[in-house]
Amino acid sequence: MFVIIFGPPGAGKGTQAARIVQAHPIPQVATGDIFRKNLREGTALGIESKGYMEAGKLVPDELVSKIVADRLQQDDCVAGALLDGFPRSLPQACFLDAWLAERGMAIGLVVHLVVPDSVIVERMGGRRTCTNCGATYHVSVSPTKVQGICDRCGSQVIQRPDDNEATVLTRLATYHEQTSPIVEHYRALGVVADVEGVGSIDRIGDHVIEAITKAFPV
Ligand code: AMP
Repeated sequence: MFVIIFGPPGAGKGTQAARIVQAHPIPQVATGDIFRKNLREGTALGIESKGYMEAGKLVPDELVSKIVADRLQQDDCVAGALLDGFPRSLPQACFLDAWLAERGMAIGLVVHLVVPDSVIVERMGGRRTCTNCGATYHVSVSPTKVQGICDRCGSQVIQRPDDNEATVLTRLATYHEQTSPIVEHYRALGVVADVEGVGSIDRIGDHVIEAITKAFPV
């Protein structure tokens, strides 16, 4: 079962992905998390991707596609994966489709979280992210129990450098220009479920799980 959780930055992809992997035994493959881990560890990949991330731009397709292909070859992805933050451009989507097709597989569902830009800008201003495990919080909607400390792993929680307003606006523009056309690509294949991404996290989560159950009946 290969599922893409899709939507603009700040749509709640990571939050809903965490719920999906609790309900279904597939690993979450989050390219943004992979880049941030490499950045923390100072690897060549981290250094190469840093400038793009800080500017709110996409890391080049070839680089991201190779990372995802390497990750999907690992044993835990044999029964599928939940892709979070990938694909983010039509060339990435075509690469992914071809990579899966070569192995007799295909994307079974794209969960498209629909959130207006105005809501995104408000959300991102209050978003805080764990420096260690990547868990996300919001200062007023879903704060940490202890200020600045991750509930899940006890590490420091900060505002991501690319969550400042100017970079968020660039990320949104990048999303509309390069990423959102992917929805129509997958809609033509009949695998898109649009889910309203505004409202309570639990209610959105119920709709996400409903869409997955419908696409992959047991
Ligand atoms: P995210 O945490 O998914 O918002 O990703 C943070 C940043 O990592 C993005 O703004 C991009 O600079 C980079 N990134 C993550 N995934 C991709 C991707 N699939 N293609 C290109 N750049 C990506």
